[in-house]
Amino acid sequence: MAQQADQFKKVISHAKEYGFVFPSSEIYDGLSAVYDYGQNGAALKKNIRDYWWKAMVQLNENIVGIDSAIFMHPTIWKASGHVDAFNDPLIDNKVSKKRYRADVLVEDYVAKIEAKIEKEVAKAAKRFGEAFDEVQFKSTNPRVLEYQKKADTILKRLGQSLEKEDLSDVKALIEELEISCPESGSRDWTEVKQFNLMFGTKLGASAESAMDLYLRPETAQGIFVNFLNVQKTGRMKLPFGIAQTGKAFRNEIVARQFIFRMREFEQMEMQFFIPPGTQKEWYAHWKENRLKWHLALGMGANNYRFHDHEKLAHYADAAADIEFRFPFGFKELEGIHSRTDFDLASHEKYTGKKLQYFDPERNENYVPYVVETSIGLDRMFLAVLSHALTEETLDDGTLRTVLKLPPALAPTKVAVLPLVKKDGLPEYARKIVADLKWNLETAYDEKDAVGRRYRRQDALGTPYCVTVDHQSLEDQTVTLRERDSMQQERVAVDDLKKLIVDKVALISLLKKL
Ligand code: ATP
Repeated sequence: MAQQADQFKKVISHAKEYGFVFPSSEIYDGLSAVYDYGQNGAALKKNIRDYWWKAMVQLNENIVGIDSAIFMHPTIWKASGHVDAFNDPLIDNKVSKKRYRADVLVEDYVAKIEAKIEKEVAKAAKRFGEAFDEVQFKSTNPRVLEYQKKADTILKRLGQSLEKEDLSDVKALIEELEISCPESGSRDWTEVKQFNLMFGTKLGASAESAMDLYLRPETAQGIFVNFLNVQKTGRMKLPFGIAQTGKAFRNEIVARQFIFRMREFEQMEMQFFIPPGTQKEWYAHWKENRLKWHLALGMGANNYRFHDHEKLAHYADAAADIEFRFPFGFKELEGIHSRTDFDLASHEKYTGKKLQYFDPERNENYVPYVVETSIGLDRMFLAVLSHALTEETLDDGTLRTVLKLPPALAPTKVAVLPLVKKDGLPEYARKIVADLKWNLETAYDEKDAVGRRYRRQDALGTPYCVTVDHQSLEDQTVTLRERDSMQQERVAVDDLKKLIVDKVALISLLKKL
């Protein structure tokens, strides 16, 4: 656990030191749970967004993308259920006066049990070596089974109490598990209460005529209310999907863990409209499809798992999370929800307008069902960054910090470095930059010794460095260094583009889907 916390701290400070993520309004001492992306962060974020967008919109002829406004008619949030049901259970500790999400307190408790299981597994793996069978070990080892049973029982009870809105049982559970405030150590808790997560604001010039609005807590409703616009103008036939990326806002009770839980964040959502009765197969399809998207990044299949929901949101008939192994344990990265016809039917009710589709095959009108995929871009950013950050001890005993980003997501694809700042090498290097920049995000760096420049590019996650030396001027060859292996080869300047582009282009990822 201490090691994990240490790794997480390193991720946060690396993000700041290398221009990926800064606390918002830092010179005013920051704003809680709001962050800004710096020069490298914005580029990494854009690359993740592009990967998602292209995988959805470009590769599927029946998925189109839109960009709806953040401000929406306030009744939309009544219809969607957010005004009445978009709540989190909160609990205060009477001694520290700190506020917590009651469900998260219990989940953190369970995470500690899960960490014990992982420890047993790691111990056994070491003991048995090659012959170790993790699945068999987990299903037979009495200690692991006991831990697992305890974790399952707790989560089941939590799910059931939340579903029944039995908040006093959530409190009873916290008391029975003897969960204490992480800050004060006290177990003196208030009752559990519901807290609505939407931010309110006003539209209009004068106080009397101003209209109460909400900042959207999800992008999905912008898709639902445009369902007919898109279907008609795009002549879309079911099944079809509408995708969008954009900001969402939630007044999170406890916003901790860096960009994992923010008050302003970005979502990438896709609503897939289908005939009623086909939701099971499409739900399975999108679960598989989305996992494939993640796995193509090569961040290790053992770092992902599905978590099927016990407690379903007010709109869903099935829901699962794709969880990722963050530095603080397995946590939700993406949600896949079978939303039935809840949203469209509800908008019909509130507007009195039909939001239906005429199905020529069934020869009938109906309100389509929806399966959605919903992922937080910032959370994905954190998954990529924390997985990539690596420290290696080299043969000479020195420590190398390297950001092993999937090359297609790296902010800079290639850095061109003149060995020395004289003898015409900078000019030659600049010529190479001028040629490569049309196809690749290219950086130029001439400051410090070349070894230090390599280290700097390693820390930024740049997959390739090109070094120009005196020989380059004579035979038009350069050294091409690969980030992860640190292997260097002498290649012709004319071959550079061909050698690098294929390995770092987004298409290399998309082809795996
Ligand atoms: P959680 O249980 O962590 O609060 P959620 O189940 O409320 O998340 P959804 O409403 O399903 O989340 O939102 C879809 C995705 O949006 C999540 O999987 C997550 O990646 C992202 N997301 C949700 N809330 C936040 C937040 N406060 N900060 C960053 N990303 C978020």
